Amino acid sequence: MTAPLIECQNYINGQWVAASGETLESRNPSDWRDVVATFPRSSAADVDAAVAAARKAFKSWRLVPAPARAEIIYRVGELLLQHKEKLAQLISREMGKPLTEARGDVQEGIDCALYMAGEGRRMFGQTTPSEMPNKFAMTMRIPVGVCALITPWNFPVAIPCWKAFPALICGNTVILKPAEDTPTCVHYLSQLFHKAGLPNGVVNIVHGLGEETGRALVEHPDVNLVSFTGSSETGAEVGSVCGRTHKRSCLEMGGKNAQIVMADADLQLALDGAVWGAFGTSGQRCTATSRLILHRDIKEEFTNLLLERVHQLRLGLGTDPQTEVGPLINSAQLQRVNHYLEIARAEGTKVLTGGETANTENLAHGFFFQPTVLDRVTPEMRVAKEEIFGPVVGLIEVGSFEEAIAILNNTPYGLSSSVYTRDVNLAFQAMRDIEAGITYINGPTIGAEVHLPFGGMKQTGNGHREVGTAALDVFTEWKTVYVDYSGSLQRAQIDNRD
Ligand code: NAD
Repeated sequence: MTAPLIECQNYINGQWVAASGETLESRNPSDWRDVVATFPRSSAADVDAAVAAARKAFKSWRLVPAPARAEIIYRVGELLLQHKEKLAQLISREMGKPLTEARGDVQEGIDCALYMAGEGRRMFGQTTPSEMPNKFAMTMRIPVGVCALITPWNFPVAIPCWKAFPALICGNTVILKPAEDTPTCVHYLSQLFHKAGLPNGVVNIVHGLGEETGRALVEHPDVNLVSFTGSSETGAEVGSVCGRTHKRSCLEMGGKNAQIVMADADLQLALDGAVWGAFGTSGQRCTATSRLILHRDIKEEFTNLLLERVHQLRLGLGTDPQTEVGPLINSAQLQRVNHYLEIARAEGTKVLTGGETANTENLAHGFFFQPTVLDRVTPEMRVAKEEIFGPVVGLIEVGSFEEAIAILNNTPYGLSSSVYTRDVNLAFQAMRDIEAGITYINGPTIGAEVHLPFGGMKQTGNGHREVGTAALDVFTEWKTVYVDYSGSLQRAQIDNRD
């Protein structure tokens, strides 16, 4: 591989600055011999500089009219469109997802920019009658302040955009801390932010390790809000620091999503959904289908159809246009998936296909795992409840719709869910009874759209939602305003009726 080495730098106060300490390497997960970039291992001092720049910029950015802020975000969207192919190639190289999916990652960023730019001209508050005469009452949104945005590697462009665009439209300034596996994608994004004309200090980027750079950011006293997407374990840490330091936190964490297939379902449709939901992005989506809950009347037929399709999946390098399933992100993730396969075997499941590291021919230098189907999974098994985050799906047989819903809900997570049925009554019961932030009827568990709220219940989240207008609730404070034009003291909160 001959692509030149990229040197990522921190982006602070409108300038790219060299690291104060050591640099780290980002490598291609399809072939670890390919070093994509170096990036700074930022210290608490680097974080201090970024927070100071964001704090200073907040003074003037919050006063820029929201429609004018939105125009700049719109320009970022246009630049993303212009750079879509180059950025997609970079995502595939650095993160490993196939090119079509990488283009989708960038497109999510574009969609989010265009959608959020529209919000710059809305951002509605409410007016409501006062209980007093000659008095006016209203609410307005005001920015929260300096926001720390901490992102994972699986959507290296889309997730930073999902967080940054609404934060900026609302008048906040941000410090983005990208995942250590995909710094280059966000470095590229910094160039587009710069080119779009964002004032200095409005967006800052600090690279580094979660335990050091991320932690310093979350603990920083001058940060008002932390928006975090990542694992539930890290989210618990981040949430507890925010609790102690009275910061607002928006946490988007793990998932253990299921697709139910009822006996009356369109099996071909359900099959397409299952293959895409379980093996898209090599199962490394928080919304990936990791359990297939199958009615016993169709289980055998569906399983045979599924195996036929899984055997046809093309495992390969992210950047190869023929690839359908790419590598896992790193060796730790490969070990984790292998470890879960040991657990699955020990728990008594049957591996119908896959189950091993894939290291033949051109895959030998990457972190590949065979697309895997586990049978005889029962609801109490660890592999039925814990997030694996790889191309592994477990089959669970059920005898009724009620049983299927109870099993779907039987995990600590509550992110995405899916039901395939032609029975409208069952579909509506599913919408009502499933404990998850997202339910798809006759669609796979993956496929969120940016104008609808995204997030989950239980240990997946802490009650907030990303994108859609729900994102405005994360990134603004409500200010309630009373205007008394009566010219005399009117007292509320006492009994005026005497
Ligand atoms: P992770 O928790 O290891 O890391 C996420 C981010 O947090 C990274 O930028 C990391 O550097 C940073 N970090 C790590 N320790 C930190 C600390 N102590 N303080 C502050 N920051 C710290 O997660 P990951 O492996 O990058 O991502 C995979 C996980 O993300 C999966 O569990 C997946 O389900 C979840 N995820 C959730 C969503 C969602 O919207 N619910 C979306 C994508 C991924």
